[in-house]
Amino acid sequence: MLNRKTLRTLLALPAGIMLALLMAVPAQAALRVFACEPEWGALTQELGGTLVDVSVATSALQDPHQIQAKPSLIARARSADLVVCTGAELEIGWLPVLLQQSGNARVQAGQPGNFAAADFVRKLDQPTQLDRSQGDVHAAGNPHIQTDPRNFALVAAALGKRLQQVDPAHAAEYAKAQADFAQRWQQAIVRWTALAAPLKGAAVASQHKGFVYLYDWLGMKEVAVLEPKPGVEPTASHLQEVLASLKATPARMVLYSAYQDPRASEWLSKNAGIPAVKIAFTVGGTEGAKDLFGLFDDTLARLLAAGAAK
Ligand SMILES: [Zn+2]
Repeated sequence: MLNRKTLRTLLALPAGIMLALLMAVPAQAALRVFACEPEWGALTQELGGTLVDVSVATSALQDPHQIQAKPSLIARARSADLVVCTGAELEIGWLPVLLQQSGNARVQAGQPGNFAAADFVRKLDQPTQLDRSQGDVHAAGNPHIQTDPRNFALVAAALGKRLQQVDPAHAAEYAKAQADFAQRWQQAIVRWTALAAPLKGAAVASQHKGFVYLYDWLGMKEVAVLEPKPGVEPTASHLQEVLASLKATPARMVLYSAYQDPRASEWLSKNAGIPAVKIAFTVGGTEGAKDLFGLFDDTLARLLAAGAAK
């Protein structure tokens, strides 16, 4: 155990070294969490602290629609107590097979150990008729809920409850962390919303339909999308059509995600004379998006810089 003197010495050390030392101290078995995307890994870490051992399946530079169910991921799902993913079919191409191959009964769909964030928010872009025929990867509504911080508030409340359910011995600690996060997050939302006021009503183009929740939050208007359908690469002819449409309905900027090949956005930027803005999209997507708070600080800073450039 740590005595007071050791603790004081530890606290005087740089954070990174302190963390490494603390991790070397044997801890009691933490709840093993398998997060599909970095934002849910970060949120689980906020709510679980030292009670959880979070493993994130993908990085911000990977396309979350297109992940391979590799043996290393299957092994991680096998030992997980809780799986935290987006849902809304974002991971339909890889998560079902991964969970099946894991043979882990606790984390199968419908079990308490399987948490889908999109189940707890109002989904946008719900298709009126189901059509996956042309590669539409948003057939269950738009899954990119992490671009609106208000969705995190809803998901955090539900995830906090779920953590208490699967790890009841620490229910009080999860409840406390969730209340603390909710308060800090709410304050941040107020600050971000005020900061983003100049973006209200701004017409924008998107490379992928990845930002509908962001636009819904800030009152921005998507006037063009470079992918002809979600998940379908922009073609030269479609780009020409978008460029022509912007003559009648100009956009102030074009947004793309850190994981995407930026060439289509750069082409439009050059030809339409508007800035192309790289959006972190999740924790780790850009230098500034180091955690959930940084994700929105950085996103707004980039949008405001591009908006002001016009
Ligand atoms: Zn998508």
